[in-house]
Amino acid sequence: MPADDSVLPETMESLAQLKAMTERIPGMIFQLFRSTSGQLRFPYLAGNATLVRAGERRLLADDASYAFARIHAEDFPRLMAAIERSAKSLTPLANQFRLYQPCGEVRWISVRAQPEWRGDGTLWHGLMMDVSEQVAHEAHLRELSDTDELTGLANRRKLMCRLDEEISSARRHGSPLSLMLIDLDHFKGINDTWGHLQGDQVLEDLARLCEQQLREEDIPARLGGEEFAVILPLTPLSHCLPLAERLREAIALHDFGFGAGRVTASIGIAEYRLGEPREAFIERADRRLYRAKHQGRNQVLSQP
Ligand code: GH3
Ligand code: MG
Ligand code: MG
Repeated sequence: MPADDSVLPETMESLAQLKAMTERIPGMIFQLFRSTSGQLRFPYLAGNATLVRAGERRLLADDASYAFARIHAEDFPRLMAAIERSAKSLTPLANQFRLYQPCGEVRWISVRAQPEWRGDGTLWHGLMMDVSEQVAHEAHLRELSDTDELTGLANRRKLMCRLDEEISSARRHGSPLSLMLIDLDHFKGINDTWGHLQGDQVLEDLARLCEQQLREEDIPARLGGEEFAVILPLTPLSHCLPLAERLREAIALHDFGFGAGRVTASIGIAEYRLGEPREAFIERADRRLYRAKHQGRNQVLSQP
């Protein structure tokens, strides 16, 4: 018997095994070739059929554009820039992008590949993994780290990030931006008289009142304790003042539901001055809040 006949079944078996395995992995292994003229094709592509169908693989062997057309428009430029960098420096390609499935669903794909110069172009050897669940989990963790546990509003960390973003935008476009700082009056007394749990209920109600009274684009947050803040993008002080007054009144009229009587808040507001650092902006609103307290509480102050 020729030697080939005894080797062939083993080779066939391991190929069948490889095929069975690659079809079950949660991703794909591939070779991607980019010619010096910039044309892309996948000489080798194997793996999960939900990402790339068998029929599509044959097309992709000649022209990768069918697959690249399924990449989310927001991720496409970043991926192409990464491919360009990897080809130029012959360093590993590492990127993450959203891919539209043939059924229309979007999946997050992570790609890792090693480039090799072939004389007529660059050949990458790599793998793509479906990391959608991981991305969703990370988004959930981010959401938790940005949220105040008691009220569900943005926490201090998130507020500071958003304030930085809004300040940048105000600087770029010269658009108005206002900030409210809100502090409940004599809140310690509510805790002392009615207990901490009722105190917590007041804080939750206050968060809901902020959401109800403010506009969709305003960003309410709990800074900590019984102190809250609201960022009001595209809002001059003259528009912020009636909104703050409306909120103050809504708090004073609200029935907190356990015989606590009237619960009031003092509010300091300020409009961003171009060029001013974030801390100085907060400080101006805080000074007005402090004065509102000293002038008798349950009031809004907008002047120095
Ligand atoms: P003022 O009118 O001057 O603001 O007086 P105040 O009593 O509201 O202010 P103070 O800063 O003296 O007291 C704030 C209180 O808020 C003290 C603290 O026990 C309470 N507090 C802080 N965080 C929480 C919380 O998460 N839940 C509850 N129930 N109380 C809290
Ligand atoms: Mg306080
Ligand atoms: Mg207080």
